[in-house]
Amino acid sequence: MMIEKKKILLSGITATGNLTIANYIGAIKNMVKLQDKYTSYIFIADLHALTLPIDPKVLAENRKNIFALYLACGIDTNKTTLFYQSDVIEHGMMNWLILSQTTIGELSRMTQFKDKSTKVKTSNGMETIPTGLLMYPTLMVGDILLYNADIIPVGIDQKQHIELTRDIASRLNNKFNVEFSVPEPFIPEIGAKIMSLTDPTKKMSKSDTNPKSSIYLLDNPDDAYKKIMKAVTDSEGKIYISENKPGITNLLSIYSALKNISLKEAEELFKDKNYGEFKHEVGMTVKEFLTNIQEKYHKYYQIIDSEAIKGAEKASLVAKENLAKLMKGMGL
Ligand code: ATP
Ligand code: MG
Repeated sequence: MMIEKKKILLSGITATGNLTIANYIGAIKNMVKLQDKYTSYIFIADLHALTLPIDPKVLAENRKNIFALYLACGIDTNKTTLFYQSDVIEHGMMNWLILSQTTIGELSRMTQFKDKSTKVKTSNGMETIPTGLLMYPTLMVGDILLYNADIIPVGIDQKQHIELTRDIASRLNNKFNVEFSVPEPFIPEIGAKIMSLTDPTKKMSKSDTNPKSSIYLLDNPDDAYKKIMKAVTDSEGKIYISENKPGITNLLSIYSALKNISLKEAEELFKDKNYGEFKHEVGMTVKEFLTNIQEKYHKYYQIIDSEAIKGAEKASLVAKENLAKLMKGMGL
């Protein structure tokens, strides 16, 4: 009998701020669901957090919060290798190797680069785009190839970076006679792009400067309820899924993702309700979800340092091996 080797899953979250419910629904929920089926590597992308200016104290806090929140959301270190990106120094070296195989054109065409660099420019009126912002995708390609990952659970906003990873993996395989897997994104059916609560045409982001736009996993649950009650919708007064109703559709997505039901089921449930009643139900669901996560968060916060050491050791072994293969292929 042939024993089939488990495929490899990898994903990370940038330590740029406090995790939002969008990070949970878009990415973490699938990481948790898939950790039984795949050999999983999940990390806190603290090197990626340096692609925009960040206060060292804030970064130090963010990375620990994210570690504990991963555990609170259900990442199990008996199944998943959980680590800080900066603890595995091979990520930096891999980035350099990948950089040498990409063009400035490829990187400057990335939507995330365009969006984020515009924000930097308009916030201070000067051309001060950090080089790291342009390199964000090469660091990410390196993250994926270091573990030779097959499947990457992410929200839809990261799809373009995975496509770049696929191109580069194939490029390296052809040029240097290496055998990297060409990875696939794993994007959730519901909640692939959760929208901002104050502007439902924009995605919810942990680095958004308006705290009312996002539900943070560490929000006071009562405040989170209020944010949902105040979420921007429309004036039609009818609840159904439509591209023209981004606010209502967003709340339906949040509700169905947290309740594990389909969007259609959620729509059916609320079709005869008014906006106030609907928002109350969504708000209560969010409140309950946060209360549950936060109880576990406080418990897990005590063990993150020891877990991080174990995770880094395991991750390093694999990263070293894959890095060495590419270096050899490149003639180093
Ligand atoms: P930042 O503003 O710093 O970019 P972010 O909220 O976009 O923060 P990331 O660290 O860039 O978070 O992404 C972490 C994961 O969360 C990725 O898999 C990303 O696709 C997913 N994600 C981010 N925003 C959303 C969203 N609005 N809806 C669904 N998934 C999302
Ligand atoms: Mg992002």
